[in-house]
Amino acid sequence: MAWLHIQNARVFTPEDLGVADALCWGGRIVAVGTDLRPPPGAEVEALNAKDRLLLPGLIDPHIHIMGASGGNGPACRTPDLPISRIASAGVTAVVSPLGTDSLSRTVPGLLARAAAATAEGISAYAYTGGWRNPVPTLTGDPQADVLFIDRVLGVKVALAEPTAPPFSAHDLTLLAHAAVIGGRLAGKRAVLHAHIGDRAEGLQPLDDAVRASGLPPDRFVATHVNRNPRLWRQALDFAKAGGSIDLTTQMRPDRGFTGAVPPAAAVLEAFNSGVPPGRITLSSDSGSAHLRPDGSGAYYLAGPDTILQTLRELVREGVSWGQAASFASRHAADLLGLSHKGRIAEGADADLLLLTGDGDVDRVWCRGRLMVADGNPVVKGHFE
Ligand SMILES: [Zn+2]
Repeated sequence: MAWLHIQNARVFTPEDLGVADALCWGGRIVAVGTDLRPPPGAEVEALNAKDRLLLPGLIDPHIHIMGASGGNGPACRTPDLPISRIASAGVTAVVSPLGTDSLSRTVPGLLARAAAATAEGISAYAYTGGWRNPVPTLTGDPQADVLFIDRVLGVKVALAEPTAPPFSAHDLTLLAHAAVIGGRLAGKRAVLHAHIGDRAEGLQPLDDAVRASGLPPDRFVATHVNRNPRLWRQALDFAKAGGSIDLTTQMRPDRGFTGAVPPAAAVLEAFNSGVPPGRITLSSDSGSAHLRPDGSGAYYLAGPDTILQTLRELVREGVSWGQAASFASRHAADLLGLSHKGRIAEGADADLLLLTGDGDVDRVWCRGRLMVADGNPVVKGHFE
């Protein structure tokens, strides 16, 4: 097995290390710094990355890798999202929930797809639960799913959503307990991952459950909170009170979400209004069917490219690449207990994203394996 020696990149761990090297072997990062040398006589793949930016591979904590939807009829059921589209967007690790259709799409199916995507090259995790009450599971008990299935990092639920069944604060408290305590018993961090829809109550049920449960508020993750300005105001208060917020990067006016708060603007507002950055994450919600913004009435299968687009927008607003990247890497890793991901550090997985000076994807490695070169996928799923 060859050593990988990335030389002379501007390295953001996400902290800005300046110009440095990264040395990887066996799927892990062995060292980061200057004057690094692989062992004498070792087979080495060296890459001079002068004028390029090396970031942790992006983590997408809400993406539909098994396909989703059917919300507008069976023709809208999306297929599996190919791993080459995920990696080409700079994303090296994903966490996937069920979507609107949590009946013909199942937790066992999702876990099988996550296992397949991991075997194909990326790192894929999942949430148990979904858009039904009681929530769908593999074992019949959400806590048992979290406890006994390593790949499960939390329980997904849909709230304030006209097309999802209602959950009382008591129901939510039990699901949060299943996630947090199931995780604790398994020796991992797990969360209650709550899709928040358009209904007027917004975050209120989740807020009530935080108070009633006595569980750590940061384990309650509200996603899609930039979908409208009213929900966004609630989300800022929720995050200031200790909750975690996940912004959906494809909810943006130029993707047809005309009422959404653009994700970069939302991140900046949260950051500037005192929300601890570690409780802000970005996800794409891609893999689902979306109407083309051109008004043609046609659907397209969204990929996770809006995450990097959002990071570029943050950088244009004066945020450093390291700070921007942390919203899409280290924060999700810390929130979900993936301590070996989301950072360029000795011992961490060699999940790496090399960008051109303009912020375009150049190369991507997942666990040390080159997935994307010159912006094009070099590894594809078996059936792509
Ligand atoms: Zn979704």
